Parts: sequence; C-alpha cells; structure tokens
Amino acid sequence: MKKKALLYEGKAKALYETSDPSLLWVVYKNQATAGNGAKKEMIAGKGKLNNQITSELFDALKEEGINSHFVKQLSETEQLIQKVDMFKLEVVVRNIAAGSFSKRLGIEKGRVLPFPLVEYYLKEDALDDPIINEDHIKILDLATQEELAEISRQALLINRALTELFASLDIRLVDFKLEFGKTEDETIVLADEISPDTCRLWDANTNDSLDKDIFRNDLGDIIPLYEEILKRLKQR
Ligand code: ADP
Ligand code: UDP
Repeated sequence: MKKKALLYEGKAKALYETSDPSLLWVVYKNQATAGNGAKKEMIAGKGKLNNQITSELFDALKEEGINSHFVKQLSETEQLIQKVDMFKLEVVVRNIAAGSFSKRLGIEKGRVLPFPLVEYYLKEDALDDPIINEDHIKILDLATQEELAEISRQALLINRALTELFASLDIRLVDFKLEFGKTEDETIVLADEISPDTCRLWDANTNDSLDKDIFRNDLGDIIPLYEEILKRLKQR
C-alpha cells in the first residue's frame, strides 16, 4: 500500500489517497485546537497518542461486533481506513452533564443524566457547528429518517460498549462526539476518531479530567493525561 495525493487536511488529521481507491491513509497531527480553531497549538506527541488510542478503541468496538472504517494501524501516527461518504453531522452522546449542554441549559456539570442523550450538530466550521434536530436534518437533506435511525442506534450501542470499557479502567465516559459515513454499498459505519480530543473522560476516583478540557481551559499539559488513557487501555 502506498500513500498518494493529499485529499484533505483538517485541524487534527490529514487524509491521503492510496493505490486502492476504497482506502485512505490518515496521518494524525500534533495540532490541538479549541473553540473551532480560535485557540491553536502544536503539542508534541498528541498525534501518536490519539492514533494509538483511536486504534485501540476501534479494535475494542470490533470485538463487540461494532464495525468502523478502521482497517489497521500503519505506524505510530498513521492508520489505513475505509474511504466513506461522510454525513455532514457530528453526533454527540452524553451520559453526564458538561460542556455546552451545561452552559446552554444551566445544568450543573457532573449531573448524571437519566438516560443517554443523543444530539446532532451540523458539521460546518463556518457556522460554528450549530446544534440541529431531526427535522433540520431532513430539511437540509443531511440524512434520511432511516439513516438517522441507524446512526442513532449505532451511537447508543457504541456508548454502551465504551461506557463499560472505560468503567473497567476506572474512567467515566461523560460525553463524546462521533462521525458516521456510508460505504460504497450504502452501509452506515462509524468513521473519524475516538480519542481524548473527542471525548470527556473523568477519572472515576477523583473526577479529574483526562481529556482535551485541560487544553480548552488552559489547565496544563494534556500529554500525561492522554498517556494515562492509553496505558489503561493497553491493560484491558
Ligand atoms: P476537521 O475536518 O474537523 O478539522 P480532522 O482534522 O480530524 O477534522 O479531519 C479529518 C476529516 O476526515 C474530517 O472532516 C472527517 O469528517 C473526515 N473523515 C473521517 N473519516 C473519514 C473516512 N473514513 N472517509 C472520508 N473522510 C473521513
Ligand atoms: N466535540 C468534538 N468536536 C467538536 C465539538 C465537540 O469532539 O467539534 C466533543 C467534545 O470533546 C465533547 C463532546 O463532543 O466530548 C460534547 O462537546 P460540547 O457540545 O459540550 O462542546 P464544547 O465543550 O466543545 O463546547
């Protein structure tokens, strides 16, 4: 397999074509951003940690029967993935109130929700990824009702599997963001990444954040925290 032309360079990853048109080569970058790129920094070692953490999590999901675009890890910072047609959606699942949910609705951070909440955001940096509902999704033609039902079903299964996995590592899965795409044969699969950049993860004993909130809120170095997540995942 050879890395070919750059297809897309985003905030955290770069995607390259390969000699196989159905596969992409992803490079995880060290760039960290918050507030839709308003805060931006290079953090040595972040790319390799997120690549390894995402690879571990996609493998763990596969063991639970949940497929993703992940084919294999190529190196410390690179992965081979299935190319999919992405839904222009960010799907957020929340178990515990935090972040924009707490802020927008005035609900104290840390309150355990009575059931997992699935939210949708339009993936559009120029509009700051606004929150949208199922009717917006239909009107904007972002997904059909059947596709959305499948996306939400998978999101909740992923939440159950990851909540259990993290609980076994003494970590609370507070909330996280997923992205989905469609393969050639129209199968809906989990894509993008699952890492401390895209999840809120709290230590079960101290409730300390082990995720990007530390960067967002200028509270210190994220690298030891991401290393701790990877270390615990490798012990699973
Ligand atoms: P952003 O675009 O938000 O800055 P990234 O730097 O992580 O984010 O860029 C990765 C891009 O690749 C995202 O736009 C994501 O939707 C897209 N992507 C993720 N997985 C796949 C896939 N399997 N096939 C095609 N595109 C993908
Ligand atoms: N998230 C993400 N990318 C985004 C927005 C959110 O990965 O563009 C993740 C974020 O890490 C958190 C969850 O989605 O785990 C919910 O984020 P929230 O809506 O609370 O937004 P934020 O705190 O970033 O304003």
